[in-house]
Amino acid sequence: MDTRTVGVLGGGQLGRMFVEAANNRNISVAILDKKASPAKQISAHPGIEGSFTNAQAIRQLASKCDILTVEIEHVDTHVLEELQRETETNGKKIDIQPSWETIRMIQDKYLQKQRLIDAKVDVAKSKDILADTEESLRTAAGELDLPFMLKARTGAYDGRGNYPVRSPNDYTSALSALKGRPLYAEQWANFTMELAVMVVKTKDAADPLIWESSTKSYPTVETVHQDSICKLVYAPARGLSEKLNDEAQELARKAVASFKGKGVFGVEMFLLKDDTILANEIAPRPHNSGHYTIEACRLSQYDAHLLAILDRPIHAKSLQLLNPAIMLNILGGADPKSYLTLANAADAAGAKVHLYGKGDATKGRKMGHLTLVGDSMPELEDEMRHLIRIADRLHD
Ligand code: ATP
Ligand code: MG
Ligand code: MG
Repeated sequence: MDTRTVGVLGGGQLGRMFVEAANNRNISVAILDKKASPAKQISAHPGIEGSFTNAQAIRQLASKCDILTVEIEHVDTHVLEELQRETETNGKKIDIQPSWETIRMIQDKYLQKQRLIDAKVDVAKSKDILADTEESLRTAAGELDLPFMLKARTGAYDGRGNYPVRSPNDYTSALSALKGRPLYAEQWANFTMELAVMVVKTKDAADPLIWESSTKSYPTVETVHQDSICKLVYAPARGLSEKLNDEAQELARKAVASFKGKGVFGVEMFLLKDDTILANEIAPRPHNSGHYTIEACRLSQYDAHLLAILDRPIHAKSLQLLNPAIMLNILGGADPKSYLTLANAADAAGAKVHLYGKGDATKGRKMGHLTLVGDSMPELEDEMRHLIRIADRLHD
């Protein structure tokens, strides 16, 4: 189908599901990560053993590929910038998607917010914290009110980088929990629902005004988080009016259109009590909220990412929801193998099970997920009930 080799920085579960999509099209994928990482386990290409934060390892990967992409945003973007410039000067054909500029900007949640504001995408009010002192948190509380969310600007995932500040008594613990990390404070979003939309960007240019021609989108889904980690995804979002759905779709596509490069992007949003929708954050890659697309849409988010970076056509119909679906994450429990009880129960319930090949679990680690697809959401909610109970027992 395509003789080009795609290199991926990172070999976790998102990389693994990307390799599955590429394998189905007989496209070779080289992974940069540790030996036997989840993605490498199912890839015929030997890839490169090393870290996606190591410049030399990224160069080695680039020497074996035609296109570079990421499954995680916390990569060394400086070497990606150099590689892109070398392409321009030496005529070496390495295409980096999405652009290193996009990855770099998204890595810093505060800069990402500024970009969204420039693109006229609504976000929660925020304030930079230049010194990690109680005084600066007091100033932030003065501007944003309490509670607010203290956030690490960089290196954040699964809520590891967030600290809810509910009262002045939390100042010391918040600062010590996020010690040594660049910080900003974000106004508390009193949301009634968290929404997400996977957007496929098919044109390189960054311009929120051309969102209709540069992006396509999957349906609006509802995400439920526990301890800041995604737990459940309902596709479509339950009880969302057509008007709010349209607003979420437009916001997500405008947000993504404002970033350079191609591929899929995950857009997380807050739906507030007064029906305002705010963008929370953007992921420049496949996303947990889009796993359901594997079973519930003609093209999965991984297929779509592959096709977008290869400049192949994507039919808008392929992104539509064929049937309602619910996705439940399989997180590690206190015992290294206890998560398997949920995977086994999911098999018995007729769910589609994905285990990531991470070996023994630690508590809260994403070990897999399961998806139920069916005729109606109430029916799926019924079927999901006892699986959620098992997940809750693992969590406690
Ligand atoms: P991810 O794994 O999605 O990358 P992350 O570590 O980058 O997570 P966020 O997406 O910023 O973290 O926050 C995780 C969750 O914490 C959100 O989905 C939401 O439930 C809650 N949260 C984040 N920011 C706020 C806020 N300003 N107000 C209220 N809740 C928030
Ligand atoms: Mg994040
Ligand atoms: Mg998030």
